[in-house]
Amino acid sequence: MSVQKTDIVIAGAGLAGLTMAVEMAARPFFDQFRIVILERDEKTANDRTWCFWADPEEPLPPVISRSWPAAHFFGINGFERRLGIQPYTYNMVRSADFYGWAKSVIQRKSNMEWVETDISSIDHDTGGVHTGKGVFEGAFVFNSAIRDFIDRKSEDTRFTQLLQHFKGWIIETDTPAFDPGAVTFMDYRIEQGGDTRFVYVLPFSDRKALVEYTVFSPELLPDEVYDRELSDYIGNRLNIREFVTEETEFGIIPMTDLPIRNREGRTFHIGTAGGFVKGSSGYAFKRTQRKTADFLNGWVSTGAPDESLLRSKWRYRFYDSVLLRVLKNRLVPGSRFFTLLFSKLPATLVFRFLDEDSTFAEDLRLLSAPPTLPFTRAAFLQMPAFHQI
Ligand SMILES: Cc1cc2nc3c(=O)[nH]c(=O)nc-3n(C[C@H](O)[C@H](O)[C@H](O)COP(=O)(O)OP(=O)(O)OC[C@H]3O[C@@H](n4cnc5c(N)ncnc54)[C@H](O)[C@@H]3O)c2cc1C
Repeated sequence: MSVQKTDIVIAGAGLAGLTMAVEMAARPFFDQFRIVILERDEKTANDRTWCFWADPEEPLPPVISRSWPAAHFFGINGFERRLGIQPYTYNMVRSADFYGWAKSVIQRKSNMEWVETDISSIDHDTGGVHTGKGVFEGAFVFNSAIRDFIDRKSEDTRFTQLLQHFKGWIIETDTPAFDPGAVTFMDYRIEQGGDTRFVYVLPFSDRKALVEYTVFSPELLPDEVYDRELSDYIGNRLNIREFVTEETEFGIIPMTDLPIRNREGRTFHIGTAGGFVKGSSGYAFKRTQRKTADFLNGWVSTGAPDESLLRSKWRYRFYDSVLLRVLKNRLVPGSRFFTLLFSKLPATLVFRFLDEDSTFAEDLRLLSAPPTLPFTRAAFLQMPAFHQI
């Protein structure tokens, strides 16, 4: 079997691998390294739509296709609000645009090579990435392709593994049916089934929108349940009688506090494999941009990669762990928790907290919004896991 030695191997070129590559391409420091990118897919399909809130100062890839200045929230007990989110906007990136842009950046770099191949395993000690086209051995390997650790069910009950699973339809109507000026961030006015369930609406115009049925739970639902709930919401909540479905999207995002090792030998785990997905929300797009930039800036300034820059601060990992336990053990229904947050606090504070930008004083304000007793109980239940999360 052929062995090709190189400086850096990027194993998997989805969101995290491509972000790593384009951020390296943007820093002349990395021109000294030969970088091989291994990916099994052509990365041309629009296989997901990434959305996130951001303020205008946030450095982001130049591929945002839409932004909204406001968001609707529909909670329980009749609570509803059009949330003022300034200075944030809610933004959308089509994955096909992101992949195309990132690949064009990579093509312009003479020190970067794209190899389309299937990865079978990684030897962390040698940095050898085993593929259908031989072994690519790097001094440093950035892995987002192999993530069995996250996807496999863990027997360790100290940690929580929930799934955020969703099905969405892009639908078009003949007559105006949507508010194109505001997304529906969460609509909890649906049957909860003992889980956390909401509908999310991204309006592209007054006649076209992505309507997505989202569930946080340990297991997936039968396919017909997603379809039934979507039909029900579109017919009975949005009062749309006739529509054409243009596209469908189905996704599963792990929500977990499993202890992640960001470095094993020569391998750095990034993306979902490296804990970039926020445990309590499932958001990862902006976190991937931020963590990658912080990590590479650290490397450039010290001359050595520091995996601790890929991790969130412990206190945020702890908050996520407690909320996951609350949801898993059904100590407070998710619909009630999110209604309390958005009814008692400004949305911008909630966003800052979820972005892990809040001060400790702001954290205390936030932590006082949900009912104290169940959260204290959950924190107590999480104690055996504290030192590992
Ligand atoms: C449908 C969907 C919608 C989402 N929407 C949002 C959103 O709106 N906002 C948000 O913040 N987050 C969202 N997420 C969560 C998160 O941002 C994405 O999952 C993100 O793509 C994770 O990045 P990643 O690099 O870890 O994984 P991926 O982007 O999946 O990249 C992994 C790459 O590795 C490659 N690969 C895997 N196995 C192998 C192998 N054996 N050999 C070679 N290559 C391999 C894959 O082809 C892929 O290109 C969404 C996730 C999904 C699934």
